[in-house]
Order: sequence, then structure tokens, then C-alpha cells
Amino acid sequence: MTIADNICITKDHIQEAVSRRIVAGAPGPVKLVAVTKNQSIGDMKEALTAGISAIGENRIQEAVGKFAELGSIPEWHLIGHLQTNKVHLAVPIFDLIHSVDSERLAVEINRIAGKMGKRQNILLQVNVAGEATKYGIAPEETLDLAWKISKLESLCIRGLMTIAPYYTDKEDTRLVFRNLYGLFTALQEAMPQNILIDSLSMGMTNDYTVAIEEGANIVRIGTGIFGARK
Ligand SMILES: *Cc1c(COP(=O)(O)O)cnc(C)c1O
Repeated sequence: MTIADNICITKDHIQEAVSRRIVAGAPGPVKLVAVTKNQSIGDMKEALTAGISAIGENRIQEAVGKFAELGSIPEWHLIGHLQTNKVHLAVPIFDLIHSVDSERLAVEINRIAGKMGKRQNILLQVNVAGEATKYGIAPEETLDLAWKISKLESLCIRGLMTIAPYYTDKEDTRLVFRNLYGLFTALQEAMPQNILIDSLSMGMTNDYTVAIEEGANIVRIGTGIFGARK
């Protein structure tokens, strides 16, 4: 199977999952983010040629090097943890930062984006299952933090992201996704009219079809496109 074959199959599975949706789902078509951590520039170019338009990276240093080679034509998504001292490197590159998990980080992103004259799109990362090993805010803190962040002028909160626990049976993740979708609709209602909450990032190779059935409109797929990571 080539990268192009895998992308084709993944897109088919996405469409099938949309047709099985039980809820209305987050608005718009589902965006496929190809997760390229540890992947070569050659493989990334192959994916871009095969119709990928959004790239997901975890580590800033790796993204800086790749961005220098590939430029800003694809959409760049930061899906890994961001430290405040790396924000100045992240803001020039990323169209969407999925991993905002504190007011302090949001304030720093706002400061750097303001200096650059950019409005930075962000998602709040929620630790739905309360796992000690994962980053993210608690579900019950989410609306409060969103409200505070919504006042920052150079920041644009667009929605929520979660990384579900790994279960061997992907059905076990369904409740996690259902909970985040509930929080997403609550956030839509809580925010002022002028703030568009339209992005719900959940689902990876193992569980993206379930995530879409439960309302996701951004999925982050690495292994399913590129094969096992080295
Ligand atoms: C690595 C990673 C992915 C992709 O994982 P796969 O199982 O390879 O699809 C998605 N989201 C995040 C946050 C990741 O770190």
C-alpha cells in the first residue's frame, strides 16, 4: 500500500463515518490532518501530492525545519504540547494550535501573535478521561477558561481537541467523544455570538471513525497514512 492508497482509503472511511453520524456533528466537512511526526520530507511531499492539505506536527523544533522546506501552502496544525518558551517559534508557523491547556499559555500566544499582527486560531485541549499521563484541562474548567481567553484580542478560540485513551476496542472510546461533543455544543451556546466555535478535533488512526460518528470535524491520522512510525 502506498501513501496515496492509504489516503484514498482513509477519505472513504471518513465519508462512510459521516453518513453513519448519530448527531448533527460539528459544522462543515471533516478535515483530514496528516500527522507527520518522525516522517521524512519525501513522504510528506508524497502525501501533499496525493491530496493532503493539512499537516499535523507535535514538536516545534521538527516543525521549524520542515516548514523551512515545505513553506506555508499546506495548513500547519500543532497537535503536541506547547511550552510558553517555544510560543515565539510556533506562532509564525501554525494555522491552528490544538493544544492550549492553560490561561498562561493563551496569554503568551496572544502576546506574540499581537506583536506579529496575526490572529492565532487555537483549540482548547481537554483531558476528557482525566488521565494523569495526558495534558489538557478538566472538562469542568473548559467554559471558564474559554470565556477568559475569548477576551484576548490576538487569539481566536475555535473549539476543542482531545486525545482519547487507547483502547484495543475502539467502541470503548465512544463515550469520551460523546462527552467532548456535549462540551462543544455547550461552548457554542456559552460564547458570545461573534465568536465562531466551529472546530472539534478528535480521533486518530485507531478511533477516528467513532469520533466522526460522534461529531468530530477534524481528525488527526498518522499511522493510517504513513504506516508505523520509526
Ligand atoms: C501522533 C498523534 C496522532 C496520530 O496518531 P496515529 O495513531 O498515528 O494516527 C494524533 N494526535 C496526536 C496528538 C498525536 O500525538
